[in-house]
Amino acid sequence: MLWRYASRPKSPLAPLFQRGKASCAARWGDVYLEQNGDNKHHATPFEKGGLRGIFLLILLILLFSSHYATASPPCQPLPEIQQRLGQFARGWHSKLAMETGYAPPARYTVCQLKSGLPFADHRLKRIYIRGLASEDDEITLAHEYLHLAFSHHPRGHDEVFIEALARRLVGVP
Ligand SMILES: [Zn+2]
Repeated sequence: MLWRYASRPKSPLAPLFQRGKASCAARWGDVYLEQNGDNKHHATPFEKGGLRGIFLLILLILLFSSHYATASPPCQPLPEIQQRLGQFARGWHSKLAMETGYAPPARYTVCQLKSGLPFADHRLKRIYIRGLASEDDEITLAHEYLHLAFSHHPRGHDEVFIEALARRLVGVP
């Protein structure tokens, strides 16, 4: 019956002894540090490197997650609406020229919005809208265009300013 010996459990008191040993060692460590007038924990170079590594890893995870959280969907272009916007923008130019922060985008793409609210992607210079069938859609198109046209100025993030200007351009009070 060899298996009995092989699988014989350790004494039930073993964990107690081990715990006792561990706390003893900790206390001895404290005594040692007090004797040396040093109660601070000095990280070894390995620990420092490890902490720095963990910090960098967290930073990378945050950067990647924020990037993917705000990543725009692939662009399905709307060339007809883009052409209309080009015409509108040429008409708006003289009114916008005197506005602080106005910098018309040299290039941009109007893309089909499949879900959610219309928006402009500053980085990719894209406007996502559902369509151009009503005056409301026209205001929305102007609104998102203005986000791009003022993207290098704080006004480009001011929703009240952008919306008021969009309505003015479309001629809706
Ligand atoms: Zn907006």
